[in-house]
Amino acid sequence: MKSLVKEEDWNCSYVHRKYRKSIGASWEKMDKGGVKGILKIARKIFEEGAVCDRCIGRQFSTLCSGMGNLARGRSIRNFLLLCREEDEDAFDDLHLDYDEVCWVCGGFFDEIDEWVERCVERSQLYEYDTFLVGTHISGLLSETEEYLWERVGASYAESIKADINREVGKKLSGLTEKEVDFSRPDITFILDIPSDEVKLGIRPVFVYGRYKKYERGIPQTRCGYTGDIYNESVEEIIAKPMLHAFKGEGEKFHGAGREDIDARMMGNGRPFIMEIRDPKRRIVNLKKIEEEIEINRGKTVEVDELRFTDKREVSSLKSLRADKTYKCEVEFEKEVKEEEIRDALKHIKGRKINQRTPTRVLHRRADLVREREIYDVELVAYKKKRAALRIDCECGTYIKELITGDFGRTRPNLSDLLGVKSSVKELDVIRFGRYENMDLKIGDF
Ligand SMILES: [Zn+2]
Repeated sequence: MKSLVKEEDWNCSYVHRKYRKSIGASWEKMDKGGVKGILKIARKIFEEGAVCDRCIGRQFSTLCSGMGNLARGRSIRNFLLLCREEDEDAFDDLHLDYDEVCWVCGGFFDEIDEWVERCVERSQLYEYDTFLVGTHISGLLSETEEYLWERVGASYAESIKADINREVGKKLSGLTEKEVDFSRPDITFILDIPSDEVKLGIRPVFVYGRYKKYERGIPQTRCGYTGDIYNESVEEIIAKPMLHAFKGEGEKFHGAGREDIDARMMGNGRPFIMEIRDPKRRIVNLKKIEEEIEINRGKTVEVDELRFTDKREVSSLKSLRADKTYKCEVEFEKEVKEEEIRDALKHIKGRKINQRTPTRVLHRRADLVREREIYDVELVAYKKKRAALRIDCECGTYIKELITGDFGRTRPNLSDLLGVKSSVKELDVIRFGRYENMDLKIGDF
């Protein structure tokens, strides 16, 4: 029988060294039965048909892990070839030569360079530093592996999936000089063997920032707002230059809560995270985006503190229970005295109030009574039927209802305390975050 084994592999000491390295190193862990076990497994596999070095080596992956499946497989084959040389009859039924297609992988590993090239081609449009390879194997490959493991066991084996992922990953990394990242890869290449194509999973880009809204009537997002409005939302204003810069296909706006459409967002601004989906660019000058928004929007919406972040910060942003400071302009149905207002505010300042879900948001929130603390209230301006208040309060306080009472659903409330119907004329968030003393100057109104 003509052997296809390379000349140098026939060198006995070479084979011996390889054999010692692959099997001998684990000698102490195994008794003679163990070695016999390895030979038994190898024999059974070669009895079924020809097997490539990688597929035979993979069945012993947990032994001599630093060696690699290819070298490990070649060592085992060479050892069996030596045995056949010694006793041809006993080993003649084994398909040890390299002249047939591997029955385990169907020759898949011969095509591995093609798959690597396809990955490179598919990712050409994308900017990325890190990647990961995943494989969706065909039914035939997984059935063959199942059959093999049923026949010979899988005590030392690694799955074909893991082998493909690692091999393609190694070659791809060598070719592209990009790094493999198991936790947060920029691109995940899925080798979809059944459909014979490479699919891409692109990690979104997350950008944190704070926005200020200096004009009333701008909704935070288009989503969820059904009113008759023509203004672009804060989300759209921020998304437009970002989608352009990152060459993204879509976006999702994550806000740390939201203010009413008719309330302004001033002071230090409200934190948000913009998620850009399917970005083709990842290296973007965020300062330029801030400037672009400023140029496009004049002084209506402003964005600053832009920085890159990741998905984990979205959940912490969403669960942020930030206190707020409001500037609230109140209108009274009839004239009230300044002293009356000051007296009424004493019953709110430093108090916990009970707010039953406002009628205006009942359609989207459960009807519950919530307790909220009003840390401080200050009368900063007064003029007959109007007053300006600064209110420092706990996250989730409904200011409009604190003033109107919302048909008694918020208690105490300013209208009841004054005995005069009061309503909110204008509302601004002037500080997002921890309550602290601050000066507020409000001009004439
Ligand atoms: Zn194979």
